[in-house]
Amino acid sequence: MKTSKEGSVTRPVFLRRWWNQQLRIGETAPARLRWVVEFAQRDLTALTPGEWTDLLSALRTFITYPFPPIAHHHPPRFIYSKGRPRLSQDEVREVQQAYQRFITRLVNKHNATTDELRVTVGAWFIPDRHHPERTVVGVTHSAENLVTDAMWGLFWLLAAHGPLLRQCPERTCRRIFVATRKNQAYCSTQCLSRQKTREYRKRKEKGKR
Ligand SMILES: [Zn+2]
Repeated sequence: MKTSKEGSVTRPVFLRRWWNQQLRIGETAPARLRWVVEFAQRDLTALTPGEWTDLLSALRTFITYPFPPIAHHHPPRFIYSKGRPRLSQDEVREVQQAYQRFITRLVNKHNATTDELRVTVGAWFIPDRHHPERTVVGVTHSAENLVTDAMWGLFWLLAAHGPLLRQCPERTCRRIFVATRKNQAYCSTQCLSRQKTREYRKRKEKGKR
């Protein structure tokens, strides 16, 4: 029976591990954009060796598959990306700076551009032996340069969810964040209430005079 055959497919261990890592970065595109934005603003000087290990593998995972997992319950059967060798701490800092520069400029000036980047994109049809009607399209990309790969990942997320990117107006915060709702102005309820308290005090003081 076709279905039982399909159901009995066991995925190689490395693929399952890789997929779990993807889910840890984020299951949806906004969640993945949030991961990038938080990484861009993270204080790398304060990381413990364990946190470094996690970050190195998370960034590598993100770069090899910059799209949101499309079918949550069905990991892709093939990894098309060439993948990358382990990253070094210097490479992580380099990517962080590129993200930070781009995101900050985009939020402050409302536009940002990279230098010229070279990416190779490929796509092909993969017929399903058991279900001819289910032909899938494989896509791949490769870039020689790490920062190019990283910017390519950000590009996809911005194209879909860029408008959720904003800066917290609370004057002691100013953190860049990805909103969970369209009308969310402050990064957190703490910042919102700090601002409300400040406005309230201001009004009270005006009233006294
Ligand atoms: Zn804030």
